[in-house]
Amino acid sequence: MRALIISDVHANLAALDAVLADAGAFDAVWCLGDTVGYGPQPAECIDRLRGLGALWVAGNHERAATGAISTGDFNPAAAAAAEWTKRVLTDEEKAALDALPEVAEQGDFTYVHGTLRWPIWEYLWSEEEALAHLDLQRTPFGLVGHTHVPAVAWLDLEGPRSAPLYRAQADAAVTLTDRRRWVLNPGSVGQPRDGDPRAAYAVYDSELASVVWRRVEYDIKRTQSLMEAANLPEWLIKRLAVGL
Ligand code: ZN
Repeated sequence: MRALIISDVHANLAALDAVLADAGAFDAVWCLGDTVGYGPQPAECIDRLRGLGALWVAGNHERAATGAISTGDFNPAAAAAAEWTKRVLTDEEKAALDALPEVAEQGDFTYVHGTLRWPIWEYLWSEEEALAHLDLQRTPFGLVGHTHVPAVAWLDLEGPRSAPLYRAQADAAVTLTDRRRWVLNPGSVGQPRDGDPRAAYAVYDSELASVVWRRVEYDIKRTQSLMEAANLPEWLIKRLAVGL
């Protein structure tokens, strides 16, 4: 079984479609939230994921786009984009977002946007956050998003209590062993923040017990011009070109 792992699409359809074209054949799509917000095509991205039958957990941007949470904690550009998203989505699309769970478990995997300690808000940036998350994770393998940076941490169940967080470069791979408990972040499809503007994703292969991180170029200018046409904040438009 081959699963496509994606997160933080952020309404960037050109990036999402580049990932879908690049990934090859897959049997499942696992999406870690923030499919909307920031970008110009939220409805189209929702439609793609529903069409693919994705296993999908909500992020803070799904919640903000429906009004389920306030944008008071968002920076001004993010809040403006969330308000725009709320205006362009239909009631039916918002109801679909509101129906998404914040945590899911399936087989050996747990899925959450942020961390299990604070599912839609906490960023898993540090060893302390990784350990707190892994303590709450009941499955051997966990997938998170939210930071927009591809990464991995693991806790050796027979070793010392440590789980440093490593950034995952393009084409990095790990073999998932069950003597360890793992948490992995595929990076962001639609708004990478690790200095590489290419869309980020990962692929899980159950036969090889492996996860591989991948990057793919997409038509950034196309997304930027749609954002300009929608009058989305300039800072959000510019950052796509630098991946920060
Ligand atoms: Zn995000």
